[in-house]
Amino acid sequence: MVKHPVKTIVKVALPVPLRKVFDYTVPANVAPSDLQAGTRVQVPFGKRTLIGIVQGVTQDSAIELTALKSIKEVLDDCPALTPEIMALCNWAAQYYHHPIGEVYSQAIPTLLRNQNIPMLAKSVRWQLTQKGRLLGLEQLNRAKKQQEALAFLREHPVGLHEPILKSFNITQAIIKALHEKGLIEPHEETTSHPQRQADNCLAETPLSLNPEQARAVNQINQTQTFQVLALEGITGSGKTEVYLHAIEHCLRRNRQALVLVPEIGLTPQTINHFKRRFNAPVVSLHSNLSDKERLDSWNRSRLGGAAVIIGTRSALFTATQNLGLIVVDEEHDLSYKQQEGFRFNARDLAIIRAQQENIPVVLGSATPSLETSQNAQLKRYQHLYLSQRAGQASTPKFRIQDIRQKALTHGLSPELLKEIKDCLRKEQQALVFINRRGFSPVLMCHDCGWLKECPHCEHRMTLHNSPPHLHCHHCNYQLRPPKHCAQCKSTDLRPIGMGTERLEENLSQLFPDTAVIRIDRDSTQRKYAMQQHLARINSGEPCILVGTQMLAKGHHFPKVTLVAICDLDSGLFSADFRATEHTAQLLMQVAGRAGRGSEQGVVFLQTHQPDHPMFQVLLQHSYHEFAKQLIIERKCLGMPPFGHIALLKSESITPSAAENFLHQVEKWLAATASALGVELWGPAPALMPKKAGRYRFQILFKAQTRRQLHQLLTPLVTHLDNQNERQVRWNLDIDPVTLD
Ligand code: ADP
Ligand code: ZN
Ligand code: ZN
Repeated sequence: MVKHPVKTIVKVALPVPLRKVFDYTVPANVAPSDLQAGTRVQVPFGKRTLIGIVQGVTQDSAIELTALKSIKEVLDDCPALTPEIMALCNWAAQYYHHPIGEVYSQAIPTLLRNQNIPMLAKSVRWQLTQKGRLLGLEQLNRAKKQQEALAFLREHPVGLHEPILKSFNITQAIIKALHEKGLIEPHEETTSHPQRQADNCLAETPLSLNPEQARAVNQINQTQTFQVLALEGITGSGKTEVYLHAIEHCLRRNRQALVLVPEIGLTPQTINHFKRRFNAPVVSLHSNLSDKERLDSWNRSRLGGAAVIIGTRSALFTATQNLGLIVVDEEHDLSYKQQEGFRFNARDLAIIRAQQENIPVVLGSATPSLETSQNAQLKRYQHLYLSQRAGQASTPKFRIQDIRQKALTHGLSPELLKEIKDCLRKEQQALVFINRRGFSPVLMCHDCGWLKECPHCEHRMTLHNSPPHLHCHHCNYQLRPPKHCAQCKSTDLRPIGMGTERLEENLSQLFPDTAVIRIDRDSTQRKYAMQQHLARINSGEPCILVGTQMLAKGHHFPKVTLVAICDLDSGLFSADFRATEHTAQLLMQVAGRAGRGSEQGVVFLQTHQPDHPMFQVLLQHSYHEFAKQLIIERKCLGMPPFGHIALLKSESITPSAAENFLHQVEKWLAATASALGVELWGPAPALMPKKAGRYRFQILFKAQTRRQLHQLLTPLVTHLDNQNERQVRWNLDIDPVTLD
């Protein structure tokens, strides 16, 4: 260490894939008090200028003072990352072995990551006046820009900050004109705690709770310090109402609530449900918003103005003023785990955040993950159970149909077709689930059996019809469907098997007078497409819904009385040890869409495996019972929730390089691993041995305790960082949720 007694050195974390922070000197015009931890600074880095986050100031550096560069600019007058978020990021960077600079960087809104724009510590928010809300827009026909601005502001009833208006080309002059006409008025937003009306926070009368809901709400509301509450409630049991009551209690104590939802569960319906209930600002954070809108939500949360913050995975890192409650809805959902880069699990980090901020966290699901089930069984989490459907609805009836040797019409049995007909005749809606998008999973030559594989993944390509193309769902490679077989030149190429597009087409032919609405990733890509589909379904017209798991999640379609599951069998034979758990969750979630209104629901399950034990336990007992059995199975395997795992993956364009890399790792680790009692499985090819042109290998680490695992992995990561390996890319996935 070189001592610099008079000189301040600032430690800056930068968004670069290096597990270290960088030292900079401080220009004379910057006071050390401007450099609080969490503040954004602009610094030179090599030939580039980067935005980094101050981690702290010190007087020492391992580097000679003269060799240090100076920071260029301090960007904010208060830290962008609050102490709470800094603490959360520090914990996560260490636990997931991810570079701290990248972790900090993804905890702030995109716009603040790369651009030298102010964070907006204090600013004017323009809001409609009563007159502005009521004025007929045609009265501004002669001032088109003002008219547009007014229409735009009407879409944002809580108002918008000036810089955001400007970014939508609403200039100072337009704002001034609207202000002079008395149509909008300024509100000064400050960093001080806003006065929300805590005792008047409801905008509608809540439903009166049934006894199970009331008990759950009481238990949550009695909890004021850190505690995990596992809310296990069957589909349709009214978990949302429990969340809403708990949030109300939180708002009455003048604290903010953070609600995490799965990626595709964050529909406008969900957000509106929360907005309708509360007479307090509700903001959302998700990928369908523009960067500017997200920055706005983030600021309102950080400054305390937003009472309820609803968002997907990364919203977990939103800064707040005084958080009082975290809710993780559908906690079993895989979208809580980020599958690339910073591979964090937002559900698990929600627990860490709750612990650090000493507040309760509710994990809700009809089909809790085995980790959560196990913690509830062991009473580490408080278990809240809703065993009945809320309101008038009753649980759906299951019918398993053995389709072995059965003649099927387009993959559907005669009995199922009759069910659909009956359902439509009663003016109800039928949901047909198939977990495969596209037209068909394979395009095959009828003369020689050749099939088109993705050249980059060596995996068959999916045929899509609208528009016609072959698509690799692993690397996104696309091309026009070939006209002839590459092997025998035959032109008799046939689609084999069924996806959503084909099912949609077939059902439209079979039921020409009925609307068939397809919901999958392709049909919902356009902005607002999902919204339009949902609006149509909710209009209640008799129709057939066809879709993937996107249809399974959280939706409440009161008119759906029949749920048909075409093909779940493939999920029963995966090599992934979690496949059974995930298949069971999917089955129960899809089934849970049936009969949520006043009519009894029926779930029709077509299978070649009618005697599979999973179906038996799930349908004769419950998911809860099934989870208990599965936990025993996991115990025998020594897999999570018994023991902890991590996956080290390598990939390279040369297979031997990827494999050798892991053999070296194995050699380097073997002695320590056995001393620590950590098992190594591999190196072995990944479940997808080639993806996007790279060959992939992996080692699975398995240990009794997290501590053992990290004692092994921490030095390993340092070792690998120092290798400077160029041919092989590697990454480490802590607590992986899938093994591919
Ligand atoms: P879950 O999320 O548990 O599947 P929801 O929260 O979507 O269930 O609730 C299912 C339906 O039950 C909704 O229409 C909701 O309005 C209704 N509901 C919830 N609680 C009650 C209650 N206490 N009384 C009457 N209806 C209720
Ligand atoms: Zn051929
Ligand atoms: Zn591919």
